[in-house]
Amino acid sequence: MFLKNLIAECKTIGFKLILWYSGFLVLSAFLLFVLAYVFLSGTLQRDDHKSIKQQIQEVSGEYDKGGPTEVMSRVKSEFVESKKFRKRSHFFFRFAGPDNNTTRILFPRQWDEFDLTRLEKIDPAEKTWITVPPEGDAGNFSLEVTSSRLSDGSWLQVGMSTESRQRVLSRFLESFMYVVVFLLLTAFSSGYYLSRRALRPLRDLIQTVRAIEMGQMDARVPQTRTHDELGELVRLFNHMLARIETLISGMKESLDNVAHELRTPMTRMHNIAETALSSEGGAMQYKEALEDFVEESNRILKMLNTLMDISEAETGVMPLDWQEFNIRELIDPVVEVYNFIAEEKGLSIQTEVDEELIVRADFNRISQVLANLLDNAIKYTPDKGLPILVQAGISDSATVINVTDQGQGIAEKELSKIWDRLYRGAKTSGDTTKGLGLGLSQVKAILQAHNGRVEVESQPGKGTTFRIYFPQ
Ligand code: ADP
Repeated sequence: MFLKNLIAECKTIGFKLILWYSGFLVLSAFLLFVLAYVFLSGTLQRDDHKSIKQQIQEVSGEYDKGGPTEVMSRVKSEFVESKKFRKRSHFFFRFAGPDNNTTRILFPRQWDEFDLTRLEKIDPAEKTWITVPPEGDAGNFSLEVTSSRLSDGSWLQVGMSTESRQRVLSRFLESFMYVVVFLLLTAFSSGYYLSRRALRPLRDLIQTVRAIEMGQMDARVPQTRTHDELGELVRLFNHMLARIETLISGMKESLDNVAHELRTPMTRMHNIAETALSSEGGAMQYKEALEDFVEESNRILKMLNTLMDISEAETGVMPLDWQEFNIRELIDPVVEVYNFIAEEKGLSIQTEVDEELIVRADFNRISQVLANLLDNAIKYTPDKGLPILVQAGISDSATVINVTDQGQGIAEKELSKIWDRLYRGAKTSGDTTKGLGLGLSQVKAILQAHNGRVEVESQPGKGTTFRIYFPQ
């Protein structure tokens, strides 16, 4: 179980981030160390070479003045002194004849491990710096020797062990190891903290998606207070969920409404058929029953066709026959038809249309829009009421058609709902002869498909104005 959790943790972005972060940190520290190491070892070597050269100059000067015995006794006394005060005697001295055979040699005891006879085999004139390695596995340090020819033709060689230099460098290496361990620990702990903190919105997001998957549809990602990309992602995600929820509940509501709307005509059709079948009536009675049946089925068909029309328009797949026409050509025939219906109720439709108003739209679809609006205007104006007015003109540089009635008006709380599919106003919903509750949804969807829009303004008891805006 623990191993499983560990493997799962290793696959997380957080863990990968920590790895990258620590890797980069250690790599940069390593590069810095290499640079510092090269610089330090170069500086230490230069310092050592400088002291050896200084020593060789001093001793060869003394040799020229006082001869070999004088020099040897001075160097020896320095050796004794350094031993007394437990100082490390740094330098190695070798006097050799002109043919490089050792005449005198002085060196600290701890340098026994160097094979000094090697120096007799290397011509001092050939190399400025001679390196004598230790014998066997005595250590990783060596003896660095330089030579100077004395006034009498003999050789003086002064050298120094690299041991103390190596010791400084290995201490430096050791401290670097501690630094690396410390860096790794810091990088891991701070990386863990930072990545967990930075990726918290992502984890919340995953948890929310899981909750939604389990059926908790109202789950939302906790809003972070940060305004970074992840905060923005969380905000957008929650917004998207809210929209999806609205759409789903809208669809569910539509489906419920459709089922509900279908039930009444279907029940009526069932009853008509049943009554006709159980009656002993003649052909006339059957004919009447069939006529009622056809009327009901037409109502259902109309509802289904309009519903399909609306969803086609809303999803942008409604085919539109774009053409340019004078708006009068559109308004006059529709008004003419609806004037007959209006007259039956003792109403009239008046028009105020600007001449030469040209629009580009689907003629039949916009005629349908105007027909729906006029149908409503007539339906929701009481018998023998005031006239209905159709106006067309330019407003805010867009072509507008207004359909104004002075009928019952719409209550303010209903204004936002009238565009919903199958919604029928409170005053009308019981009256099935009034309509399907799809007229305004169709108007809105058709205008949306045209990139236009529709607005409503209404005062209960005074009347309503619908405004259709054509795209510019
Ligand atoms: P319906 O088939 O019921 O007319 P609509 O979608 O055309 O369906 O209209 C939805 C509701 O909006 C109507 O039931 C009615 O309550 C209200 N309505 C629409 N037009 C008018 C209007 N001109 N005057 C008053 N109420 C209206």
